[in-house]
Amino acid sequence: MTNLRHQHRRAGLPLALLLAAGLAACESAPVGEAGVVAFGRVWTGNPDQPWAGGVAMRGDTILAVGDSGDLARYVGAGTEVVTAAGGMVVPGFMDGHTHFLDGGFQLISIDLRTADTPEEFTARIAAFAAERKPGEWITGGDWDHERWPGSPLPTRAWIDSVTPDNPVFVQRLDGHMALANSAALRAAGISKATKDIAGGLIVRDPRTGEPTGILKDNAQGPVYSAMPDPTAAQQDAALARALAFASSKGVTATNFMSAPTGSLAAFQRAQAAGALTVRVKMFFPINRWRWVADTVAALGVGDDWLRIDGVKGYMDGSLGSTTALLFEPYRDDPTTRGLETTPLDSIRRWVQAADSAGLQVAVHAIGDRANALLLDIFDSVAATNGVRDRRFRIEHAQHLRPQDITRIAKSNVIPSMQPYHIIDDGRWAAKRIDTTLLRTTYAFRDLIDQGAHLDFGSDWTVAPIDPLLGIYAAVTRRTLDDKNPGGWFPAQKVTVEEALRAYTVENAYGIFAEGRRGVLKPGARADVVLLDRDLTKVSPIDIANTQVLATVAGGKVVYRAP
Ligand SMILES: [Zn+2]
Repeated sequence: MTNLRHQHRRAGLPLALLLAAGLAACESAPVGEAGVVAFGRVWTGNPDQPWAGGVAMRGDTILAVGDSGDLARYVGAGTEVVTAAGGMVVPGFMDGHTHFLDGGFQLISIDLRTADTPEEFTARIAAFAAERKPGEWITGGDWDHERWPGSPLPTRAWIDSVTPDNPVFVQRLDGHMALANSAALRAAGISKATKDIAGGLIVRDPRTGEPTGILKDNAQGPVYSAMPDPTAAQQDAALARALAFASSKGVTATNFMSAPTGSLAAFQRAQAAGALTVRVKMFFPINRWRWVADTVAALGVGDDWLRIDGVKGYMDGSLGSTTALLFEPYRDDPTTRGLETTPLDSIRRWVQAADSAGLQVAVHAIGDRANALLLDIFDSVAATNGVRDRRFRIEHAQHLRPQDITRIAKSNVIPSMQPYHIIDDGRWAAKRIDTTLLRTTYAFRDLIDQGAHLDFGSDWTVAPIDPLLGIYAAVTRRTLDDKNPGGWFPAQKVTVEEALRAYTVENAYGIFAEGRRGVLKPGARADVVLLDRDLTKVSPIDIANTQVLATVAGGKVVYRAP
């Protein structure tokens, strides 16, 4: 930094900042002006300097972490100062598991979740359709007819007259049924003459036999097939919304799980335009491992903004739909122990191939049996392909036998888990599985105590993209129905700092970015979040009320609370 610039900086400082900075600090050794300085009680994630009073950043690099007096000298005329007075500054949150672009599509699509009457449902669709071009599909919705007096299912007659030019296919919030208007039924070739589809139901008018527009489960398939793929412009719009929304929640990085290969271009465009405000690692479907390997060979693995060397597979389904793969039969449906959603031979072959190609492998496993079988596959692939630092990931790792918790820790497999699911599923999980397994369900405490690199995330759009809600869930384990005020299986609770680590330091480790991300220290990437309260000082219940004051990603303030 030149003298001239230094003087300009002093001359240009407003009085308040001069006072804050202190004249003496300005006279000291040339330190250079920071682009952004964040003041507040800083939790760094760095064991060598766990707490500080501020963080100075220039470009995408942290210049200094120290007490507020030291850092004042980095404040110049061009420095943006953000302050969490009485609050807290932490490394930017990393969300280990999202369906990121799907989240963006949900945000740009019609919102029917809060439509409390059939009239409201129709009115919102009419208003949304009026803004669309003819022929453009209207999807999303997430309506809930249980909110309506008498709970009638909607029919196409409710919306046909207000959507003459647009096919409409809006789903119920659980995704197990959706309403098509007449244009969408026509596009899908569904009529009175259409036979029912295995695993699905076409709801029909009892008098005329005509489809009402409600299609359940597999009967939705023909409409989804008839829908055009999103255009580049639609993808860009969805991504922009997802980025802005994530920034407002303090999220500065995420892993986009099950990313369609066709979505890579949208992320590349955003990066080229300098519009990525969230760092993204993409995990593409594992059966596309060869495409991923070829793409990495052509383009490289990417950088700290966009990394593309991940693949993701599936072992089983979910507990909610009784398709999580268990050792014991379901308590509420003893005819089933869940489903292998991918044949074991295929998943083993793909894991092996992707691992040989140098890709990072993540696999969804929820049930205890799915997790045990997956650990076997990981072991056999590691034995075949030889020793390397591969960091296999288990996505969800929800129900684990004690011996598998030990295996995860010993074999350095990353458990990538979503604490919000506890306070949601905890309401009804006891109906499905017995207490022995519940004790090691979302077994955060045991995993940490055994030395596993526990990563936290949201699973957005299945759950809200909100790390503060996740920290609240991990720390309190209070179910949403408030029936477990002391915490659901409280022995597995973690501390605030452990939850913070799982959203920052450990998430960086989970994608080979430790040391330079998820931590506040000189030389690391400049991602910081400012919170309106100190999570380590408030009562655990109050964590859920925490507001993000500002988000800094790549050394730029990308969000400020209104
Ligand atoms: Zn998911």
